[in-house]
Amino acid sequence: GEGLPRPEQTRVMVVANQKGGVGKTTTTVNLAASLALHGARVLVVDLDPQGNASTALGIDHHAEVPSIYDVLVESKPLSEVVQPVRDVEGLFCAPATIDLAGAEIELVSLVARESRLQRAISAYEQPLDYILIDCPPSLGLLTVNALVASTEVLIPIQCEYYALEGLGQLLRNVDLVKGHLNPALHVSTILLTMYDGRTRLASQVADEVRGHFHNEVLRTNIPRSVRISEAPSYGQTVLTYDPGSSGALSYLEAAREIALRNAEAHQNHQHSTAEG
Ligand code: ADP
Ligand code: MG
Repeated sequence: GEGLPRPEQTRVMVVANQKGGVGKTTTTVNLAASLALHGARVLVVDLDPQGNASTALGIDHHAEVPSIYDVLVESKPLSEVVQPVRDVEGLFCAPATIDLAGAEIELVSLVARESRLQRAISAYEQPLDYILIDCPPSLGLLTVNALVASTEVLIPIQCEYYALEGLGQLLRNVDLVKGHLNPALHVSTILLTMYDGRTRLASQVADEVRGHFHNEVLRTNIPRSVRISEAPSYGQTVLTYDPGSSGALSYLEAAREIALRNAEAHQNHQHSTAEG
């Protein structure tokens, strides 16, 4: 911990955007690794049947491995599926196996089908500073479980044409879950990904997103970087694959902002309640 404030309670963040290919998984694993390198204890929950987050963290997730499917459908304790991530101290992963593809249907007939992940997380006793949940690109029961289990929504936005399209439906779903199942849920963080500062389009999209979401957009953008896209095929995040690269440095900086903004918000809140 190089002086970064640690949250007083575990911050549970769902990384969501119903579009595929916008950088959800990349952001989940690289932010998680960055937070861990800053000294935090971090759990990645892989909630996408594709298991891309598990792969990127070098976590074994063949069909027989105990996984988040067993937690959601078989009520197995989360502690029995969590694996430590090699090479990054303080980083852990609850992997997804291909079974999870069936969970979307199997969950329908189970009791408390929307809050099974939330219950599993509540019962998890290991101390954690952050839980980051990687979602599939759909708004089915898996994503609803993630929204119910979280207090914060982190939306990665790819800086290209139609970037804001489809966001409306995600925001409506956030409001629905907030209204009916999880009053604490809110969009806390927006991260611009695959940013190419040389193109006019990228800066136009960035301006548009900042215009819509004044306080939520991080100052740090994640650049488009070949090193970021290469790292998963080595079962690594860019933080260990190429620690000095612009991609690694930008994720470290984004993680710093996420930690600091929360601490500031918390202080301001304490001041305002003290001042009455
Ligand atoms: P999602 O989880 O939203 O579907 P991914 O994180 O899998 O999106 O990213 C989609 C593709 O874009 C992947 O091939 C990934 O390696 C690549 N990618 C993501 N972020 C970057 C980046 N900053 N620079 C270059 N490639 C990226
Ligand atoms: Mg993904």
